[in-house]
Amino acid sequence: MKKTFLEINIKALEHNYFKIKSKIGNETKLLGVVKANAYGSDLIIIAKKLEELKIDYLAVAYVNEGIRLRKAGIKTPILVFIPQVEDIEDIAKYQLQPSIYSFYFLNNFYFHLKSNNIQGYPCHLKINTGLNRIGFNEDEIKKVAEKIISSSYIKIISLYSHLAASEDLDEQVFTTNQINKFKSLSEEIIKGFEKKPLLHICNTSGVINFADAKFDMVRCGIALYGYSNSLKLDLMPVHNLKSIISQIIKIKKGESVGYNRAYFAEENMRIGVIPLGHADGINRGFAKNGFIIINEKKAKIVGNICMDVFMVNLNGIESKEGDEVIIFDSENNAENFAKVYDTISYEVLTNISERIHRKIIT
Ligand SMILES: *Cc1c(COP(=O)(O)O)cnc(C)c1O
Repeated sequence: MKKTFLEINIKALEHNYFKIKSKIGNETKLLGVVKANAYGSDLIIIAKKLEELKIDYLAVAYVNEGIRLRKAGIKTPILVFIPQVEDIEDIAKYQLQPSIYSFYFLNNFYFHLKSNNIQGYPCHLKINTGLNRIGFNEDEIKKVAEKIISSSYIKIISLYSHLAASEDLDEQVFTTNQINKFKSLSEEIIKGFEKKPLLHICNTSGVINFADAKFDMVRCGIALYGYSNSLKLDLMPVHNLKSIISQIIKIKKGESVGYNRAYFAEENMRIGVIPLGHADGINRGFAKNGFIIINEKKAKIVGNICMDVFMVNLNGIESKEGDEVIIFDSENNAENFAKVYDTISYEVLTNISERIHRKIIT
């Protein structure tokens, strides 16, 4: 394809799904996290494939993401991690399952259910065990559970928490504490429930590093897309970001390239113009040490990254206009790409803008 495109490799998704399944076993349910346009890929395509594979649950961060899934015909239960009060009406309208994480949200949602006389609405209760981001603290959770149990409007499907440093083995003691706290709190709370809710705490690196903490379900995002902080799972990247050399510009030694004259040529040069820029998710920080692959060689970025294009040094690389270039793929993956500007694969993937054409590989 003679332009910038993001390949979405559905075979890789399937491969990763089965790798995770074999790691967690049949007893443990799998929730696939598809927030942020399925980590910058394609929300609907990915969700449809996961539904076809019979994934137990899907999760998104916000209600509007869940609405998109329902409008596309997705039937799998959808957990919404951080629903906002403003969006409460749409939760029941689109059969989304909210996470109950604060008194502010609980009270507003409760009021909505009551005024519409909706009984037994499926919800998930979020406990804060140390991430200190979202959820009820230890000293609040019992009160919340009591309030919910004593009313008929909310049905708790699951109790969950989130680990702060599951990828970091130096923080093993902290993580183990979180897991133990979750275990003892949830054991106490579930006593009051008629039907035992599902318990879950692990994300991808939790599954890899704390296999004993699988509980009833695990929540995997990044592993489905082919990344994890360890290679123990033998995953395949789903995203391949490719482009072309749109134009080749010849410049003389001493001339500058791009905005603010950030780069000066030390020799006569061939400059390749690549049609994607910071508006497409290529962070300006990437200019410093970044490179892409052109005809199997590394081509260094020169000058500042512009909104719609960036430029590379083509000296020593046999190349012509229209040649394909690789920003990242399964060999030079998004993890390596991310390291160049001190970020993580999650940020690189979720930054891939919607204006880039998606090409589905099946
Ligand atoms: C994003 C998210 C996940 C998925 O994490 P990965 O590291 O991508 O597996 C799981 N749980 C919660 C609460 C999240 O916000």
